[in-house]
Amino acid sequence: MSDIEQKDKPATQPEWVKDERTLTNSALPSEEQDWFCDARPRRVEKHWQVLENFMNWARAHSLWILAFGTGCGAIEMRPLVTARYDISRLGMQMRPTPRQASVFVIGGYVSLKTLKRIVRSYEQMQGPKFVVAVCSCAINGGMYWDSYNTIKRIDEYIPVDVYVTGCMPRPEAVLAGFNLLKKLIREGKAEGQNLYADKFDWYKANQKQVIKDWNMPDYNW
Ligand code: SF4
Repeated sequence: MSDIEQKDKPATQPEWVKDERTLTNSALPSEEQDWFCDARPRRVEKHWQVLENFMNWARAHSLWILAFGTGCGAIEMRPLVTARYDISRLGMQMRPTPRQASVFVIGGYVSLKTLKRIVRSYEQMQGPKFVVAVCSCAINGGMYWDSYNTIKRIDEYIPVDVYVTGCMPRPEAVLAGFNLLKKLIREGKAEGQNLYADKFDWYKANQKQVIKDWNMPDYNW
């Protein structure tokens, strides 16, 4: 099997998992291992249904976006915040840090180097949180399908709630993706965060399979 095929093959057996209950942070220097949380991510608990419906309605009308411009397609995010499309009138705004954002937008191809920052940023976001993958390159590899230093599918490393395909997708398509995300949130069907909690070992094993210089906590919280 070639290096490229090996790199993109999803892991089936997370051999690095030693303890089911806690994370080890074993890649960090011993004096730093206690600085970070060793608990795994958890599912978002559901409330009483009527309250949950109201909260989902509120969440859908207040999307705080962390736009991670990983590739050329991210240029189409700019028109969304200027006068022509003006997403702030639709309850959306850009935020400068993962700590303040609820929607993570991956805008373009993802190199191995960038993937490391994507994982850290995603895990630092507070829940409920959602991911929109923009561009064919992020979704299926696109024109970088056989590149030696990009990944083919971002959803093997973090969960994706909405896919916006195209090379490059126009702002109207990205806006349609946000509207679909709003619909999914209102209906309680944007379950990416729970998927990450449920399949944490699988995601983490896939991440560690391609990020060779793993010198960060096992869960960046
Ligand atoms: S899909 Fe096209 S526009 Fe988007 S990152 Fe790939 S090459 Fe660039």
